[in-house]
Amino acid sequence: MPEHSQSADDPLRDVEIIVVGAGFSGLGLGIQLKRRGHESFVILERADDVGGSWRDNTYPGVACDVPSPLYSFSFRTNPSWSRMYSPGPEIFDYLKDAAAEEGLRPHLRFGADMLDARWDENAKRWTVRTPRGEFRSEILVSATGHLTDVKYPEIPGLDTFPGDLFHSARWNHDIPLEGKRIGVVGTGASAVQIVPQLAGLAERLVVFQRSAPYIRPRNDRAFSVAEKRLFQRDERSVEELRELLFWTNDYFFASRRMLPGFIDEMRAHTLNHLATQVPDPDLRAKLTPDYEVGCKRVLASDDYYPALLKPNVELEAAAFDRVEGQTVVSSAGNSFDLDVLVFATGFETYDLPSAHRIHGRGGLALSDHWAGGMQAYNSTAVTGFPNMFLVNGPGTSLGHNSIIYMIEAQVDHILAALEWRALNGGAVLEVSAEAEEQYAHRLDTLAAGTVNLRGGCSSWYVDPRNGRATLTWPDVAHRFRDQCAAFDATAYGVAAAADRS
Ligand SMILES: Cc1cc2nc3c(=O)[nH]c(=O)nc-3n(C[C@H](O)[C@H](O)[C@H](O)COP(=O)(O)OP(=O)(O)OC[C@H]3O[C@@H](n4cnc5c(N)ncnc54)[C@H](O)[C@@H]3O)c2cc1C
Repeated sequence: MPEHSQSADDPLRDVEIIVVGAGFSGLGLGIQLKRRGHESFVILERADDVGGSWRDNTYPGVACDVPSPLYSFSFRTNPSWSRMYSPGPEIFDYLKDAAAEEGLRPHLRFGADMLDARWDENAKRWTVRTPRGEFRSEILVSATGHLTDVKYPEIPGLDTFPGDLFHSARWNHDIPLEGKRIGVVGTGASAVQIVPQLAGLAERLVVFQRSAPYIRPRNDRAFSVAEKRLFQRDERSVEELRELLFWTNDYFFASRRMLPGFIDEMRAHTLNHLATQVPDPDLRAKLTPDYEVGCKRVLASDDYYPALLKPNVELEAAAFDRVEGQTVVSSAGNSFDLDVLVFATGFETYDLPSAHRIHGRGGLALSDHWAGGMQAYNSTAVTGFPNMFLVNGPGTSLGHNSIIYMIEAQVDHILAALEWRALNGGAVLEVSAEAEEQYAHRLDTLAAGTVNLRGGCSSWYVDPRNGRATLTWPDVAHRFRDQCAAFDATAYGVAAAADRS
């Protein structure tokens, strides 16, 4: 029977916990629930497999840009990473193995897109509607990611383009690219991985750059046989490498806070990389950012600049403006005849993609609650949305360290909340508006001093509706765990007390 088929007798249709999303966040929570003996939970995933970003992003050159020993679960270290920055398929395999070996398969429901989730005030339960029927639970956890729903720019005339076009996160492997004239739109984290690969295939490659990124050396390398043996033999060696990488990254957060010395060093480090790899002063000028380093994500690449030097590659330092049939015209007025367009234009980030589908008290949609911008207490709970938690939602994104660390801290917060709830008669947990406001205010205050807001750029970290950096955690990563991993019942006190009485 195909796994998508409706099954009225699904033993996990009415459970304690529904987790939505089977990427790092949903699987991380699932593993910890399972390890603690929870059985009454289901993980709903709209796609056909686990993996999230690492299932969806199959473009040539896809890899993490945080070192692999750190870009993995602390509770499932992997001694077998092939490289410092492992390719996407290896990360995808890591997640598939984790799901299988930790016994999550019986809890996973694929093809289960959360179409609508509603808090039932009388029953004190969530009802989640999916193409596989309804699921009900006491607790809802949205782990739907925020680099999930692809974003295309509005381009006049795009429908007149006769060639092939696709988004970097929905790569069409059926389109042959050898000898083609290809345009890559965007110069963000995915584009700098894709361009070196396409440069070796295309007859002509045009890279449309609206704004130049800062790029630091990646220094990627394969792990040696001796290192791999050591990692296999001694798990502590992997943990020590993780710690070294984590604290080094956190130390350099000082540059995001614009501490003189730190930010100067970061700027010099990236601009030296540019000067070393790009001798031509005209090209170098086009590749020099016009904002402060760290305002947008600082990228890591050893082969992006060299790819731009190839004779078949052109950097068009202007936006992709319009399409007239086969011809693409940039905002500088230059025209290019192209066969294939690759949109490396990122994702919808200002709202969680699923926010309009989740309805809390009084049927209020999370997207309406967030009409003025996203916020959540401890980046995890939202007032008006009882017994609901978010993982990797607002206030979690990092420019300087691994998101897996943040996800694990949130998982610990949820586990602590579940434990408290179990000891308190299954109380309904709803964070108070005051606690949420205070937390949001503290994040705004911290963010005000960061280069994300002061660096003179526009980036996907900042919500254009309010100018707030609602997506990011504006501090060192370890302080997120210190402040958010624990569960403080007083922040949830009012509803819990009322429901117990
Ligand atoms: C190409 C790429 C490279 C990256 N590299 C790094 C890196 O090096 N370091 C780093 O820290 N971060 C990186 N990131 C960020 C990355 O998104 C996170 O690291 C991580 O994968 C997030 O995991 P997640 O589970 O929160 O979200 P996702 O991986 O996005 O998983 C969310 C899951 O929820 C599912 N879903 C969404 N909506 C619904 C719905 N309505 N119903 C059911 N299921 C739903 C999706 O199908 C998906 O499987 C990268 C992102 C991309 C795209």
